[in-house]
Amino acid sequence: MSERGELPRGELFLDGQWTPARSRSTFETLDPATEETLTRVARGGPEDVDEAVRAARAAFEGPCRRMTPVDRARLLTRAARTLESRAEEFARLETRDTGKPRTLSRSEIHGCVRYFDYYAGAADKIQGETVPLGPDYLDYTVREPVGVTAHITPWNAPLSMVCRSLAPALAAGNTAVVKPAEQAPLTALVLADVLQQAGWPAGTYNVVTGFGGEAGAALSGHPGIDSLTFTGSVPTGRTVLQAAGEHITPVILELGGKSPQIVFEDADLDRAAEEIAKGIYTNAGQYCDAGSRLLVHTSVREPLLERLTARTKQLRVGPGMDDPDMGPLISAAQRDRVLDYIEAGRSAGAHVVTGTADFPTGYFVAPTLLDGVRPDMRVAREEIFGPVLAVLTFGSEEEAAELANATEYGLAAGIHTRDVDRALCFARDVGAGYVMVNEYFSGGVESPFGGSKHSGYGRERGLAALDNYTRLRNVVLRIQKG
Ligand code: NAD
Repeated sequence: MSERGELPRGELFLDGQWTPARSRSTFETLDPATEETLTRVARGGPEDVDEAVRAARAAFEGPCRRMTPVDRARLLTRAARTLESRAEEFARLETRDTGKPRTLSRSEIHGCVRYFDYYAGAADKIQGETVPLGPDYLDYTVREPVGVTAHITPWNAPLSMVCRSLAPALAAGNTAVVKPAEQAPLTALVLADVLQQAGWPAGTYNVVTGFGGEAGAALSGHPGIDSLTFTGSVPTGRTVLQAAGEHITPVILELGGKSPQIVFEDADLDRAAEEIAKGIYTNAGQYCDAGSRLLVHTSVREPLLERLTARTKQLRVGPGMDDPDMGPLISAAQRDRVLDYIEAGRSAGAHVVTGTADFPTGYFVAPTLLDGVRPDMRVAREEIFGPVLAVLTFGSEEEAAELANATEYGLAAGIHTRDVDRALCFARDVGAGYVMVNEYFSGGVESPFGGSKHSGYGRERGLAALDNYTRLRNVVLRIQKG
């Protein structure tokens, strides 16, 4: 349980203090498995965002500026150890707030620990270089922190999405204002305890909970932030980009996807079926890089679908606290959206194969295969963000590439083949920022992640993420002797 009692209650975290929203207004966050209210959360607004940005600026100009890279590495390592020691509490809280299975929450929280450890190791390796300008000059670059970084995050992997951008931002010497998703804001709040306990100065990490159109809009259009990392949907991405444009604030956009998993005729079908099921049903399909389109060679369609159907029907669906294979979706709105898509697929002629998810309460949707999908159907093109796999077939490599790229998204792609040349060619040609061969959700904190086209730009994870949170200064000295 949290240091401050079982659940965080109704307050923002500003300048190292727990404080109610200026409006004193709160809203509820629900357990998606039971539909019960878990707790009430502060409804932050523009004045609270002002306060958070002010605190982050003061911390950046004051104690954070005086810290050495080694100081930052130590504090990040301490944050990692503190979070690790409280991992079970965080996993439980994440499961209650999102409905995801306990094992999955544990793995996401351990991923957060890895973010702190990884960027602790990077903090004292962020360096400039000298530029060869000739014997009469010394030209050198310095990598500096950008200042106050803003982070607007989604509900699908709440703490993970905060830590993914926060850890590199802190490693590089920045401070942060975080606006977590209103549907699952709890772990981002309790993280404040962890960072405080680890010794980060007041004002380094500020959390303004609230709604997108209020706290989120105020943060993305705030003149006092020096960068904005937005993780969420394409329409909101467009809105925040416009708001940030007002003050020429640099933006990193990590948006949605409609990622293909391509199965060639030479693939190991048992393994492919396992990876495809994992790619779409993990987190009930609510990952941006979910492998939501299956493109299968016509010659292996039948044996693959046999395996996939069996797997889909076997999945244990239930409340995350019971640690099933799949939990509920985040909200009634999301469940209804996903059911509407399944209906749209059915009425457009797709054949629906489902498992079971029969619960009197909770936002459950059964794992679903939509067979016989055509490329022009909405279910083949639009992000559903639920446990729904659209199945399409191809007859040649060219057709597979064409289908894979026939979407406005460009986030991830999975390839299943035993032919290494084919894998490498496809990895080269597919329009995706992240490509996985013979295993889905491969890679880790070290592997740069991000998309192209409407999936956004910029890269999170790996050393590449440090570029988001540093600015290059170039200094040229004319050397004159005598
Ligand atoms: P969303 O766009 O509805 O919300 C994301 C965040 O933006 C929330 O904190 C929300 O409150 C805030 N927001 C909403 N309106 C805003 C506004 N007008 N101004 C500023 N902020 C505003 O997305 P979601 O439904 O929470 O998340 C699902 C989406 O996120 C999916 O499309 C998914 O693919 C994407 N996602 C992408 C990645 C990635 O790394 N590419 C990772 C996770 C999720």
